[in-house]
Amino acid sequence: MQIIVQKFGGTSVGSIERIQAVAKLISEEASKGHRLVVVVSAMAGETDRLLGLSKKLSSQPSALHQDVVLAAGEQVAIGLLGIALHELGISSQLFLGHQIRILTDDIHGAARIQRIETDRLIACLDDGKIPIIAGFQGVTEKGDVTTIGRGGGDTTAIAVAAALKADRCDIFTDVPGVSTADPRMVSDARVLRKISSEEMLELADAGAKVLSSRSVEIAARYQVPLCVRSSFEPSAGTMIVREEDSMENVLISGITLSANEAKVAIRRVPDEVGIPARIFQPIAEANINVDMILQNISKDGLTDLTFTVPKGDLKRAMELAEAAARDVKAGKVEAAGDVAKVSVVGIGMRSHAGVAHTMFEALAKEGIGIQMISTSEIKVSLIIDAKYGERAVRALHQAFDLHKPHTDLVGNER
Ligand code: ASP
Ligand code: MG
Repeated sequence: MQIIVQKFGGTSVGSIERIQAVAKLISEEASKGHRLVVVVSAMAGETDRLLGLSKKLSSQPSALHQDVVLAAGEQVAIGLLGIALHELGISSQLFLGHQIRILTDDIHGAARIQRIETDRLIACLDDGKIPIIAGFQGVTEKGDVTTIGRGGGDTTAIAVAAALKADRCDIFTDVPGVSTADPRMVSDARVLRKISSEEMLELADAGAKVLSSRSVEIAARYQVPLCVRSSFEPSAGTMIVREEDSMENVLISGITLSANEAKVAIRRVPDEVGIPARIFQPIAEANINVDMILQNISKDGLTDLTFTVPKGDLKRAMELAEAAARDVKAGKVEAAGDVAKVSVVGIGMRSHAGVAHTMFEALAKEGIGIQMISTSEIKVSLIIDAKYGERAVRALHQAFDLHKPHTDLVGNER
């Protein structure tokens, strides 16, 4: 019998009516004869509410204590879902992270799942019951409750699917699947039938909110077939699959916009071997993720060094850059928080040239200037003025014809 893991996010269980709707979805799937395992997030807004409560007591709550508070949201959600299923005559067994033993490291608030014990889950399935698992939470070897980072419910579901060697993991959410662009920005964005996990990883990294990059990474590593679909309306969803040969035939799969970018520029940096290492070392030690780096051609042995960091880290990055600039006798440090990153992703660009050129042309037509560029094998990202973000996404969606369904060599629509 197939094992299918189904994960329901916060909006899917956001109200009592939604919990009843999800219980009905589960009962329909269970009646097909699959062995079903369910993972649930806290009701929408609940984790933020709990976070707010602890912030009222302390500006820097102990992460150990805060994890006990945050994990409560998922506990309520599985309990309510269990009650709703019982009303439909379906027996389930409820599991908190520590009851299964979803073992994590002890980085509270951002713990990593290390191992999942499956005995109790398998015993529950053998009993003919549906295990309902609290997402987002785990336990350390020592027995302390942990949470695995905001939006971590997907990661729990995929890790459970990997541990159980499930046949599929369905991520139910409030959108019908992975789209060519955010439909709130681009009215003719399309839902993709399938996408390679490599592309999905780049999209998630570049700011697509459908799935976290950590969860896609685990799905790819353990080859868990993933499907992103809606719990609000019947939808076939998007399958996230291993790369197939025919996929290269489609040039671009999706476009994302990330507003979570900030830029730091250090002027008049001595252009000598070893200086960039001295500048970036303290930033790396502070765990600040530097995304793009640009160094201009040097004049008179001096160069400008510009880089981007997540917006939330700008203040700290500025302090560190200023200290480093003094250390290496560079000039002044400037910051800009009003930038955005627009990225296009597609494995087709491995075998087709000219993607960057098409992007430059499309943005030039709109009068949008480009401040920084970075490329990977299957992605091109541009830093632009934040106020042009959505316009840029629309222009690029049009330029790459993403509103039209693409078909691959054997005629399958993507
Ligand atoms: N409830 C957690 C959060 O809001 C985890 C999740 O929703 O996936 O971040
Ligand atoms: Mg969520």
